[in-house]
Amino acid sequence: MTNLILLGPPGAGKGTQARMLTDQHGLVQLSTGDLLREAVAAGTQAGKAAKEVMQAGGLVSDDIVIAIVNDRLDQPDVANGVIFDGFPRTVAQAEALDELLDNKSMQLDAVVSLEVEDAAMIDRISGRYTCGDCGEGYHDTFKVPAKDGVCDQCGSSEFKRRADDNAATVAERLRAYHAETAPLINYYDAKGVLKRVPAMGDIAEIGNQLSAIAG
Ligand code: AMP
Repeated sequence: MTNLILLGPPGAGKGTQARMLTDQHGLVQLSTGDLLREAVAAGTQAGKAAKEVMQAGGLVSDDIVIAIVNDRLDQPDVANGVIFDGFPRTVAQAEALDELLDNKSMQLDAVVSLEVEDAAMIDRISGRYTCGDCGEGYHDTFKVPAKDGVCDQCGSSEFKRRADDNAATVAERLRAYHAETAPLINYYDAKGVLKRVPAMGDIAEIGNQLSAIAG
């Protein structure tokens, strides 16, 4: 059982790598972005509060996000190990996570910083889309399905793009990353749990490195 955090700017590959670790190691992917999108779609109070902030590429309030993570960590499947994807994003969230893990007798095994070049992130994000059925990720230029319009994994022809994956919002998301989230690299380095993984290369190769860290 391993609990991991994936750190990195939008487009670094956190979601893609988390899905691979889920498949290979049975870890649970805890993506606060996914949970918030579900809350927005369901029209919950948290979703209503988060909707506009997400559309603008800003950060949803720490209180809302921490409450969502707290609830998710109460579900029994987290005993298999958790990959935190997109959380924590602020030092306040990291401190809250330390406390949550402590209260739930869970430990943090590693924090992986996916090291990428900002300039490439806009192109990566602007062209990405996913299978609407199984969630497999694709990209207009970098990863197209073998058969046009058909998911390689599940055969579905339903695809979706995120509303916030446009150039204007991406710029704000990158700004928020550098202002609020990048300081977490030092936060976790000081705790001795940080591992830096170069993440501009081949997806499978990066996956192998993460898999070794996940044990
Ligand atoms: P993501 O799917 O991780 O790219 O997140 C999409 C959007 O959800 C972000 O741009 C934020 O508006 C919001 N969000 C996701 N995770 C967090 C978090 N940990 N703290 C604050 N906002 C978040």
